[in-house]
Amino acid sequence: MTTRSLSRLIGAVLLMTAGGVHARSTTEAVSPDPVSSRLGEDVVLIPGRFLPGAQPDGNTILVTAPAGLIAIDTGRHADHTQLILDLATREGVPIVAVINTHWHLDHIGGNPPVRTAFPDVRVWASDAFAEAQAGFLTRYRAQLVEAVAGSEDPSAKAAWQGEIAIIDAGAALGPDRIVTATGARTIAGRSLEIGYESHAVTAADLWVLDRLSGALAAGDLVTLPVPLLDTACPSGWLTALDHLSAVEFELLIPGHGAPMTREQFATYRAAFAALLTCASSEQSDEACIEGWIHDLGPLIQESERGFARRLLEYYIPSSLRAPAVTLDRFCGGDAHT
Ligand SMILES: [Zn+2]
Repeated sequence: MTTRSLSRLIGAVLLMTAGGVHARSTTEAVSPDPVSSRLGEDVVLIPGRFLPGAQPDGNTILVTAPAGLIAIDTGRHADHTQLILDLATREGVPIVAVINTHWHLDHIGGNPPVRTAFPDVRVWASDAFAEAQAGFLTRYRAQLVEAVAGSEDPSAKAAWQGEIAIIDAGAALGPDRIVTATGARTIAGRSLEIGYESHAVTAADLWVLDRLSGALAAGDLVTLPVPLLDTACPSGWLTALDHLSAVEFELLIPGHGAPMTREQFATYRAAFAALLTCASSEQSDEACIEGWIHDLGPLIQESERGFARRLLEYYIPSSLRAPAVTLDRFCGGDAHT
């Protein structure tokens, strides 16, 4: 396997390609502990860490429902998932439902430990996990095994072995309840609307509107500092953002990054559309990158701009300007396993 093909695959789920670093460095391992924040009476955000050179965790949103806690996404690393379990312990309320916005490992990796702690939990997700498990994740695991065998770097090996262990949890990662269409649902006694978006970030993404609080968990349909395009169909993603703008939310919680007002989301959506337009024009990658940074303005902190640039230096050629056959694969073409 070439470094390039490994890099492409690692980038797909680990997002470790930026800067060419394939594992946490010693300095980057020391990162601020994520602190949960209360977004409303019944809604708590546990922010996922997303740092250069390290595997990310997606944000987790915990909603207190009449029958117990609903966890929207469960992170990847044990320390992130432990924060979820700790909060349940502190509140003295069991986690009765998990809703996964999509199958990427930084959003479902905590499902097995949550199941162990709360055996009665039910996991809701789209139908895309089975396909990803049989296709993408199987290929990814094989490449991880090869990478471990060929590496002398203990921290890289440990990170890859951690990924293999998550994948090997198999069915414990996947759903008990499959969501196949947008609609109102009552889960654990709480009134939700769950949206189903086909061929956007993955083959099928979910978003969750908590009607009582007005909080919208957007999953990776909205991410900062850049859209994470590894398994994306860009045109389908833009359509999904149109759907989100029609949802009556008060606060949008991205899959990665801080919560957004409606106005901030409108900025994100316009910037996403402009990025796609730029990438399909004759403009240089650099011009498209600077356009994104400019359009997002204060939504990307000064300290994150270098990271955002490195990510887009990877994503524009590998995704937005990928050959049509690659995009077709993620947009519902024949070979999308
Ligand atoms: Zn993510």
